[in-house]
Amino acid sequence: KQFTDYPLGEEIIRALHSLGYETPTEVQSEVIPVVLQNKDLVAKSQTGSGKTASYGIPLCEQVEWNENKPQALILTPTRELALQVTEDITNIGRFKRIKATPLYGKHPFHIQKAELKQRTHMVVGTPGRVLDHIERGTLALERIAYLVIDEADEMLNMGFIEQVQSIIQALPKDRVTMLFSATFPEDVAKLSRKYMNRPTEIEI
Ligand code: AMP
Repeated sequence: KQFTDYPLGEEIIRALHSLGYETPTEVQSEVIPVVLQNKDLVAKSQTGSGKTASYGIPLCEQVEWNENKPQALILTPTRELALQVTEDITNIGRFKRIKATPLYGKHPFHIQKAELKQRTHMVVGTPGRVLDHIERGTLALERIAYLVIDEADEMLNMGFIEQVQSIIQALPKDRVTMLFSATFPEDVAKLSRKYMNRPTEIEI
């Protein structure tokens, strides 16, 4: 399979070409069609497998450029991953002019608040700071149609379970949820049972 075999717009194909991505990785060939059909999914996958682009590509395709409020929320366990994901999405969405905003702790809240007043299509953040923005009313959630829980096992290991649950409960019910994790301990499985709708299970 080639990227051009999927219903992806010319701007996305052009970006993948300029990134030197010629063929989809295994996780990408499993995940991209599921997300393009707006179905929930749970994927067992490691870093280095191309998992960021596996959700980044269909999200960049599906978000509507002409909408000011964020349409996708991506939760990551660390600031480093939030920045990496933001960079990857910015690259994939370059020709569609997709804007992703990173939100993480130990970075001035007022700067992030100002950024959230501008058009942003996706928000990528760590649970504590994302919840802070939700509670202070600086992050609009009403247009969120996609939630990605990345490195779920790491996130729960770091003690973020309560924040993650509070965030999910604040989101619109009518959304697509994707969960990525290298391992599936009981608390990760529980999260997917509680908040997902018959997810497609992908194991690479
Ligand atoms: P990740 O697993 O998301 O951390 O990605 C691992 C690395 O693979 C990153 O440096 C990506 O830029 C790169 N990558 C992702 N998808 C592809 C692809 N289809 N072809 C070549 N490289 C890729």
